[in-house]
Amino acid sequence: MAFFPRLYMNWPMKILPLHPFGNTVNIMTKISVAKGDGIGKEIMDAVLHIFDAAQVPLEYDFVEMGKDYFLQGFSSGMTPQAKESIESNSILFKGPMETPKGKGMKSINVTARKTWSTYANRRHFQTLKGVDTVYSKAGVPIDITIVRENIEDTYGGIEHMNSNDVAVCRRFITRKGSEQVHRFAFEMARKEGFKKVACGHKANIMKLTDGLFLETFYEVAKEYPEIDASDIIVDDLCMKLVSMPERFEVVVLPNLQGDIVSDLCAGLVGGLGFAPSSNIGDNICIFEAVHGTAPDIAGKNIANPTSLLLSGLMMLRHLGHSEQAALIENSLLYTLEQGVHTGDFGDKTIPSSNTTVFADAIISNLGQVPAGSEARKASSEAKTWTKPNFPENRIMMASPKVGIEKTIGIDVYIDSEKSADTIAEILEALIPDGFKLLNLSNRGTQVWPSGSILTECVNHHSARIILRDSEGEASQGMMWALLEKISDQLFVTSVEMLRNFGEKQGYSLAQGQ
Ligand code: NAD
Repeated sequence: MAFFPRLYMNWPMKILPLHPFGNTVNIMTKISVAKGDGIGKEIMDAVLHIFDAAQVPLEYDFVEMGKDYFLQGFSSGMTPQAKESIESNSILFKGPMETPKGKGMKSINVTARKTWSTYANRRHFQTLKGVDTVYSKAGVPIDITIVRENIEDTYGGIEHMNSNDVAVCRRFITRKGSEQVHRFAFEMARKEGFKKVACGHKANIMKLTDGLFLETFYEVAKEYPEIDASDIIVDDLCMKLVSMPERFEVVVLPNLQGDIVSDLCAGLVGGLGFAPSSNIGDNICIFEAVHGTAPDIAGKNIANPTSLLLSGLMMLRHLGHSEQAALIENSLLYTLEQGVHTGDFGDKTIPSSNTTVFADAIISNLGQVPAGSEARKASSEAKTWTKPNFPENRIMMASPKVGIEKTIGIDVYIDSEKSADTIAEILEALIPDGFKLLNLSNRGTQVWPSGSILTECVNHHSARIILRDSEGEASQGMMWALLEKISDQLFVTSVEMLRNFGEKQGYSLAQGQ
């Protein structure tokens, strides 16, 4: 861990104007900074240079994270000192990072967000004057905040090959995880004056996972009666974001859908170069650009640092340095209005600036305010950030149980090229009296006892076996004894218990069941 206050290599020295900050007491806050891979170093240097010029009261603890550290044998992509620094400072400002491909390593970006429970990923997409898009030209203003759930969903990356042809990914959506992200979205809306929060989902198809996400959304919404809460199916959301983006204020989504919808929104406002993000948790927060390492332009000093700069402004506001955030944002908006641009956007008749020149233009314009958009103001509320007290033990998040939990059967996944009829015959011959084979499905579609001859199958069937007595309850022992018998004759790749929770049926039906 190296500690280099105020030193950015190869940056020309300038005499910078001083910016007085009223009566604000600027207490130095120490944060961890990881420059990242690809364009990371160039854009981070540019942003820190702007921060210095604006006299941002931050002290930087530079930490070692990213591709090189994977390659040096640190399996998490960071050194133990980096982990220690981040856990000690609570704030990580990071450039984009690359995870070596094809070596089975987990994404460092996702690992960081998950390990430190940064459950809400806030991403802001706004029309910026000087960044022309079809919407800005049509006079359609865009100011959308996406809140993406950041821990769960398929981003666990929990995957298995269940047969030589069949890969399966487990998707976790939890009540407590959903509550956290929804509460963050509504709290943010209340504090910052948003009037509408919409929940994007696919609960019409994934009735249990997305259904739980949606159910929790409306539960939390009850605590915020002044905010208009609505929901929208994610495909409809995508269409409406393109056709009427001005209708949306805050949209909260599960992880994967939130990731995809965020990039769509980045496209609405001029691309990934303008999309900042913060990963918010109760203990640690990570601020980073939405875009990646841009390997195609890395090392050329042509990357656009705006997204990382805007992410840094989110961090300054989070830390209570809203005067400096307003000063820098006004200068950025003014600079964009003047037509200064990097190669990825802007008026092509005006020569583009490289990363360094673009950052220097923002520095020279500190103190200016934009003419074509509302000048940003410092928050009137005095906010002093204090490092949160970490819990002494790992927290178990669980809600009170409702009703009686009862196991009534099992779904058994079988790797076999035998036909559904043959598998059914084998199972019916060995299932004990108390149970019955209800159906067989293949890729979620029922193929036995009824189904269409046209349903193409793969070598992976699911057999649903349930108690004959609909009032009965199966014990764990009964299930494992049953599985032992089945596995004598067929290859069982995995199982799911069929459970009911009070009145709620805890499993989906097969298509056609
Ligand atoms: P990318 O975002 O790096 O690049 C996509 C396109 O956008 C490229 O053409 C690139 O040149 C352009 N672009 C991105 N940022 C830009 C900027 N600031 N200025 C100008 N142009 C910019 O996406 P990718 O190519 O799919 O991913 C590259 C690597 O980044 C991968 O290893 C990926 O895993 C990683 N990644 C990291 C993060 C993160 O650290 N949070 C996020 C996304 C991708």
